[in-house]
Amino acid sequence: RKVLLTGGTGFIASHVLDCLLDHGFEVVVTARSDEKGHRIVKSIDESLRKRVSFVVVENIAKAGVFDNVFKSDPTFDYVVHTASPFQFHWDDPVKDCLDPAIKGTTGILKSIHAYAPNVKRVVITSSSAAIRSPPNHPEVYDESCWSDVTLEEAILDPKNTYRASKKFAEQAAWSFLMSATPSPTFSLATINNSFTLGPIPRSLPGPDALNTSNRRVHDLVHGHWRDRGVPLSAPVFTFVDVRDVALAHVRAMMVPEAGGKRFYVVGGFFSNPRLLRVVRERFPRLEGRLPAKEEEAADDFPEDHWGFDNSRSIKVLGLEYRGLEECVADTVESMLRLAGEE
Ligand code: NDP
Repeated sequence: RKVLLTGGTGFIASHVLDCLLDHGFEVVVTARSDEKGHRIVKSIDESLRKRVSFVVVENIAKAGVFDNVFKSDPTFDYVVHTASPFQFHWDDPVKDCLDPAIKGTTGILKSIHAYAPNVKRVVITSSSAAIRSPPNHPEVYDESCWSDVTLEEAILDPKNTYRASKKFAEQAAWSFLMSATPSPTFSLATINNSFTLGPIPRSLPGPDALNTSNRRVHDLVHGHWRDRGVPLSAPVFTFVDVRDVALAHVRAMMVPEAGGKRFYVVGGFFSNPRLLRVVRERFPRLEGRLPAKEEEAADDFPEDHWGFDNSRSIKVLGLEYRGLEECVADTVESMLRLAGEE
């Protein structure tokens, strides 16, 4: 059974790839250059490498860019689409973020529809950003919720661009499924994971290539919070371990009842002071790089913060979420390994 996995260099994709290989799949990843493709394949254990290959897809925003992928190999059974820009600074919000997210999503669906008759299920990495909009309010979020961000807000304020890219890409995917003729023979599931932390990819060339969400832990471990203080932009966040996110993708691909569903994939709440506490307790040798102990006391989860309902992911996908401590400790270990500080 063969899977096309887009965005192979990505943090989440690297774990989806491991999980697909663990489940016995053959995987073709997309990468934006030959060099990146070779790096991904080389990062895989030799005993598994014969089940991994890559194709180059330079820019998912380009119309028809996936056509050749499926024309030259129409035997894919599943597609997992993770590729999408994730950061918060854009030169051009439309060209750099909204187009690759939205046109990349509709583009791959069109190509599958036209040239990949064997594909049974497409899983798209959407985001909790498509579900929830700050500011916080005391409400329980689940798969029935949509962020209320607009395209205008996305273009005017870079803080909104990423959130809107995920909302409108996901909505475009669901409407494609409804409106395409003839009716697609594949079904769709989306993973709406929240802020994702976890071990960094083995194929990462260096700390500059670190993905956006793990950067927070990297900054803490490398003394930036000691120098600038604990970031307190919001009192409460949700997180999920990347290995749970990866399993969610693979189960959403394989479980028949997952078709046609969104999955809000959330492991729990955290705050930056709580993140700091885990690192302090688990890595005493890093004490000299951490902010003063008193800063921990600033942790104050408000009483009325919003809630999440992840029960669908537990019932349908059988997820058992890892806790914050395991997730953060394994993330830090992987970063120390990258820095040669094991
Ligand atoms: P990464 O930045 O590590 O991965 C993004 C991937 O998308 C990379 O492989 C990147 O390629 C590729 N990509 C970006 N733009 C383009 C483009 N124009 N053309 C082709 N490929 C492109 O991020 P994550 O692994 O964290 O994110 C993966 C997915 O998960 C995204 O869809 C993101 O929105 C979603 N997500 C992430 C969360 C998180 O907290 N990390 C939370 C919720 C959802 P290259 O490396 O070559 O630039």
